[in-house]
Amino acid sequence: MTEKRVNSNRIATRIDELSYCSEPTAGGVTRLSFTKEFQMAQKLVEQWMNEAGMTVRRDDLNNLIGRYEGKNPHAPVILIGSHLDTVIEGGKYDGMSGIVAGIEIVAVLHNSGIVLENPIEVIAFCDEEGVRFHSTFLGSKAIAGTLTEEELQVVDENGISIASAIRNIGLNPLNYKNAARDSKDVLAYLELHIEQGPVLEEEGVACGVVTGIAGASRYSFRIEGFAGHAGTVPVALRKDALAGTSELILEIERLAKEYAPIVATVGKLTVNPGSSNVIPGEVIGTLDIRDTNEQRKNEVLKQIFQSCEEICTRRGLQCHFDKVMEAAPILCSDSIISVIESAIQKNNMRVIRLISGAGHDAMAMADLTKIGMIFVRCTKGISHHPDEHAIPADLGLGAEVLLDTVLQLTKNETIVKEKI
Ligand SMILES: [Zn+2]
Repeated sequence: MTEKRVNSNRIATRIDELSYCSEPTAGGVTRLSFTKEFQMAQKLVEQWMNEAGMTVRRDDLNNLIGRYEGKNPHAPVILIGSHLDTVIEGGKYDGMSGIVAGIEIVAVLHNSGIVLENPIEVIAFCDEEGVRFHSTFLGSKAIAGTLTEEELQVVDENGISIASAIRNIGLNPLNYKNAARDSKDVLAYLELHIEQGPVLEEEGVACGVVTGIAGASRYSFRIEGFAGHAGTVPVALRKDALAGTSELILEIERLAKEYAPIVATVGKLTVNPGSSNVIPGEVIGTLDIRDTNEQRKNEVLKQIFQSCEEICTRRGLQCHFDKVMEAAPILCSDSIISVIESAIQKNNMRVIRLISGAGHDAMAMADLTKIGMIFVRCTKGISHHPDEHAIPADLGLGAEVLLDTVLQLTKNETIVKEKI
């Protein structure tokens, strides 16, 4: 068994401490960007970064950045980050795990008196979830240099723009461009995150390597039949829009299983006229489909549309799909994937490759540099929920993998093996 270098209990305790920086809620953690709870959390993170030997600054988008200087301050930096904001009544591990693990591995280096060739920066991003302004990856986009001035004008439900929210906490939104990094100065971006799904638990492994973040397409659809009396029209003569939709949903499920790991979800249905004694005449629904392989996603979509056509023709229904959203998939760097894989093996674990169905700051950071992600098992795959949980030992193993990944990327393995 490899000797443990990181302190898993400290990781878990710090995640607990951050969870108290929350609006009062019935359950879980609610910490939106640019609020006093968020500033409280930043204070804690700043203190831990200082203790780990980092110099800390806050950029004009309210990202908190701790830098552990390298032997060569001009060498490209390794960025490690995740987000400090939460959803409403969310869990305490989503986002926080990656920040706390990043600080932990720097603390290991600092306490052992090790300075790597390359600097390391740990970033607590300001707004990933996009709960308040419905615009995700605000902090990471600013650092990647892809944030636009128009995005800062987006308003929350009280009419307060992102720019005003930034101004209200004493920062200058006009300086948003200063947050951007130059890709020449960056070696890689690494993010540790809880899986938010059940695969690692199913496989019985504490962590896994992410190969990519799925692209998503969202559609709204409308299936039209003919409403009528639920008592008088024989079933064989009906044009029941809901019965047709049900057949379509089962076909979508069948196709998604056939083309796994693609995922497809019909998450919302509105049945009209929506009465217990009327045959459904119209169904309006949503389709969300995600995959890291765009070609496969387009192939499955084509088959869904064909099946819908066939089902509707057979049942005398009309169907119509409208695209609402399209986001391209992001692939993790092959070279970083293999470094993470060897770090996983070094920590005596079986390598499990996963794709992320959820978006992460790494998606935005991929515009700046090559990215790598480590997923940590979470109980029952529950996330964005007060019951979200990851055990300290798994978080510790994830941090060990992160540490080995950093050491291998900076080619410092041997020195460190001797010193820690
Ligand atoms: Zn997250």
